Amino acid sequence: MDYTNNVLCSLSVFRGCPELIKTTIFPSTANEVDKQYVCVTLEVKLPEEYPDCEPLVQLRNPRGLDDSTINHLYKSIKDKCAENVGQPVIFELIDLIRENLTESNLPTCQCAVCLYGFSEGDSFTKTQCFHYFHSYCLANHLSITKRHFQEEQDKLPAWQKSTKGFQATCPVCREMIECDIDELKTAHPPKELESAQKFEVTNDLRLLQERMRQLFSYQKSKGGIIDIEAEENKLLLITQSSEETASSESTEDPGPSLSNLNDPVLENGVLKKSQRCDVKMNSSDR
Ligand SMILES: [Zn+2]
Ligand SMILES: [Zn+2]
Repeated sequence: MDYTNNVLCSLSVFRGCPELIKTTIFPSTANEVDKQYVCVTLEVKLPEEYPDCEPLVQLRNPRGLDDSTINHLYKSIKDKCAENVGQPVIFELIDLIRENLTESNLPTCQCAVCLYGFSEGDSFTKTQCFHYFHSYCLANHLSITKRHFQEEQDKLPAWQKSTKGFQATCPVCREMIECDIDELKTAHPPKELESAQKFEVTNDLRLLQERMRQLFSYQKSKGGIIDIEAEENKLLLITQSSEETASSESTEDPGPSLSNLNDPVLENGVLKKSQRCDVKMNSSDR
């Protein structure tokens, strides 16, 4: 087994020996990367007394593993460290974790879109960032985000439109992912989702709804809710040159004015300096 791949050691300047070892471990799948559904990063801190004391072990960035699998792994690691006090244990730990990952090389976590688990026969997708979704759920999520992206693009003037087009991102970590949405769409809905009880608005839910409505009104009355439209209008500046203002003064309230403004003023597309500029501020009514 090759242990030298992707093992990061930080050396202590004072001790001249490794004090932190970090490596990401995958299940053994004979180099078939496509079939690795789980992984975890092992981080081992070596105290000065090591190997005469147990190292400090952390498992980071677990992918496809649920809490009970991780806890079980921690327990096995603790036992292994305890029985190996007095001799180096790092390679044993890597082997132990790899064996465990190989045994549970199927995602035991939930789909982050529908929150159901993965059942036998469900079609699921592993993203490049090692996050898991039912293909059906990922297809739905990506179709909606793609449609939303398109709607937002349609509202923009030509010069502001994205030239790159829609880029799918992972719903969990927002890493860019490569997916064929049309192919994902052919997947069947997850089994648990299909057999789930039909959603109904129960009395409890109605009570909760009413409570949330009251909470919302209370928050709003205390100014805790931000009215986006009012906030946008607050900062809207309307600038007019003095000539234009003079002609419109009889009919309109010019609002507060700033005289002797030395900043350049744009008039009919031409920049003019030292011109009086009336600034009207639309403040919110709140
Ligand atoms: Zn799902
Ligand atoms: Zn991700």
